Amino acid sequence: MKTFHCQYCGHPIFFENVGCLKCGSALAFLPDRMAMSAIEPAGERQGDRELVRPRLRGRRPSEARYRLCLNHDLYQACNFAVPANDPNPLCVSCRQTRVLPDLSVADNQAKWYRIEVAKRRLFYTLAKLGLASPTPADGERDGPVFEFLADQPGRPVLTGHANGVITLNVAEADDAERVRRRIELREPYRTLLGHLRHESGHFYWDRLIEAGGRIDSFRELFGDEREDYGEALKRHYASGGGPPDWQARFVSAYATAHPWEDWAETWAHYLHMVDLLESAASYNTWLAVPGNEEEVEEVVNPFETGTPDFDSLVEQWIPVTLLVNSLNRSLGQDDAYPFALSAGALAKLRYVHDTIAACGAG
Ligand SMILES: [Zn+2]
Ligand SMILES: [Zn+2]
Ligand SMILES: [Zn+2]
Repeated sequence: MKTFHCQYCGHPIFFENVGCLKCGSALAFLPDRMAMSAIEPAGERQGDRELVRPRLRGRRPSEARYRLCLNHDLYQACNFAVPANDPNPLCVSCRQTRVLPDLSVADNQAKWYRIEVAKRRLFYTLAKLGLASPTPADGERDGPVFEFLADQPGRPVLTGHANGVITLNVAEADDAERVRRRIELREPYRTLLGHLRHESGHFYWDRLIEAGGRIDSFRELFGDEREDYGEALKRHYASGGGPPDWQARFVSAYATAHPWEDWAETWAHYLHMVDLLESAASYNTWLAVPGNEEEVEEVVNPFETGTPDFDSLVEQWIPVTLLVNSLNRSLGQDDAYPFALSAGALAKLRYVHDTIAACGAG
């Protein structure tokens, strides 16, 4: 993701911030500008809601008007603003959530908050890729619908996607529980953002592959998705996590379970890739060119150069992930990116890249 600065004082701010630590300005993300902004009361109301505007220094006050997302006013759970001409009380990200966990149950509000934080990051990347509109018309929403549910006695909630709806078990927002599942399932990486990116892959498979007329090319590379899904998953877990040589053709062991899972895992990886490269480019990172240490080149922002060439993304991706892992190890942390991509996995990533390049941004 891009780095942002408070436009009132110049201080660096993060996507999740609600206030500038230096000048004290309130902050919000303005989806129509795809940017964080210092805001101030506009001194006007719209119904019972107060309007805000970008806070500018030494210039005429901004004409732009927004409301804060209703989930900000009710729960302090969101920092997205809604353009005043958008009739929806919820922001573009919150309006995608159809079912919330029971917020009267202890901890559910904190878990829901953490999931929405990750979901706003997902929204940002989908919007940057042209896959979800940051300004849908007439208060509509774009992209998947989400349901966040907690287990009930005798009714466990399975995280997954069906018919455009992504369900996530809110237990995944509990750090101890998520780590327990990660170890039990022998996964090297399990995060809320990773879950949401993976599940969005299933949503966009329906849209871009099935409805997009790409099923033949998909099957050629990922296999036949008509294979019984339930049986395939059972077989995967019974086998103890896929064939031993999975790395030659898959981004992860779980990707071996079924062609749909292969696609969703590869999709999630592609979103990791463009987001990490955007962050690195945003910090003006320069890298030694592999094989020629004398030469350095600047990391390219994948969203600012038109459609980037897949080979140049990969050429930069590998050293950036090595850098990230080295920095993590310096701090005594595990690798942030515990994967190595084989030629077979890269061919699938290229397919995701080409599919998005053909469908997004338009
Ligand atoms: Zn500031
Ligand atoms: Zn919101
Ligand atoms: Zn899946």
